[in-house]
Amino acid sequence: MSLISYLTTIRFEFGAIGGIQQDLTELGIGKPLIIADEGVAKAGLVGKITAVIGSGADLPVFTGTPTNPTEEAVEAALALYRERNCDGLIAVGGGSPIDLAKGVALLATHEGPLEKYAAILGGIPRITAAVAPVIAVPTTAGTGSEVGRASLITLKDGRKLGFISPHLIPKRAVCDPELTLGLPGWLTAATGMDAITHCVETYLSPRDNPPAEAIALDGLKRAVDNIEKAVADGSDRDARYQMMMAALEGGLTFQKGLGAVHALSHPLGGQKDLSLHHGTLNAVILPATLRFNQSDAEAKYAVIRSTLGLGPDADLADYFAQLSGRLGLPKNLGDMGVPASLVPAIARAAVEDHSHATNARPATVEDYERMLNEAIAG
Ligand SMILES: [Zn+2]
Repeated sequence: MSLISYLTTIRFEFGAIGGIQQDLTELGIGKPLIIADEGVAKAGLVGKITAVIGSGADLPVFTGTPTNPTEEAVEAALALYRERNCDGLIAVGGGSPIDLAKGVALLATHEGPLEKYAAILGGIPRITAAVAPVIAVPTTAGTGSEVGRASLITLKDGRKLGFISPHLIPKRAVCDPELTLGLPGWLTAATGMDAITHCVETYLSPRDNPPAEAIALDGLKRAVDNIEKAVADGSDRDARYQMMMAALEGGLTFQKGLGAVHALSHPLGGQKDLSLHHGTLNAVILPATLRFNQSDAEAKYAVIRSTLGLGPDADLADYFAQLSGRLGLPKNLGDMGVPASLVPAIARAAVEDHSHATNARPATVEDYERMLNEAIAG
């Protein structure tokens, strides 16, 4: 059976944030809580949002989002949401503030603890339409969380779990490439590689969903054609537009399921002491998984080569490793500070991750250990 579903209403243009007041009115939100992080606030992006909202100056703002959202941060933001009698959320930032906002929107209307809603623990049917409305305003081009149904949150016990439901999809995605013009080069590169990984992994996922595959290939082409331009010149408006569209498309294809890269990067991202960036992890892990998956996805590899304008003998793993290198991203997980001693635990967590089931080639704990060791040594 194919399950194909596109639900999100999206504003996409330079200046799109000008429509946020209208979105609030249409969604019946009178008092939104703004969720951001310190970097987004320092860059002046929260101020740009409050400036277009009638009551903007009085709105509560939570800027305590960690690099990888945590249950503790959800609870802290939820306390502010309740204290200020909020009735909806505006998430401003990369994937972390958007995922955090989804967690707050869930617990604002569903009894805790958070754990019981985790997909891997049977939580999907427990999430109802009562989830508070979220307007997602991405300020990076990578995560796709603005149109995704998943939120990744690290619980107090250290497990980074996926919370997945169509009810968690933001009611509006406001994609304004203007907000990405000041994004630093390394973050443009790392988040852009996340978008590329989403397109590659969802395309390779064995689920039957041709519309999602077409979107993934279009997103992949836009991203590879523009990521180096956007990193080299952050003020290149066309490159910024194309990267934001590629990220959006990567998010729209999530419904097909991701794969081994995310099955590994989720538990690695849950290592609080290492505080590893999601997109950077994916860029570094992607080549090892592409080598592993190749035998089970030859026909799709040929389509990707042709989409990228590569010859029939081109090695996709090498291609993406070289692209990451040109973007200045780390060469391997060892350079990111991931010790080999973590390999057994991360490999065991990978087979428990919700992205594992849709990898292009079935993988065992031992397979994940091999991929990890390859990614650590690079
Ligand atoms: Zn991702």
